[in-house]
Amino acid sequence: MSSERANKCIECTIHNCQHHCSSSDHCSLDHISVGTHEADPTDVQCTDCLSFTMRK
Ligand code: SF4
Repeated sequence: MSSERANKCIECTIHNCQHHCSSSDHCSLDHISVGTHEADPTDVQCTDCLSFTMRK
């Protein structure tokens, strides 16, 4: 379930995420965790939002 709450400190365009704000391109969480799926991250594509939850 998406939220109307927009955390203006966290911009995000992942509309498939349950935590995405439905009214603007922001996250609705107070904070998120960012990590990597790479052993040696070298580029933006190496980073992941670990707070992502598939929207139901
Ligand atoms: S949890 Fe991560 S992917 Fe989901 S809306 Fe927030 S910033 Fe975007």
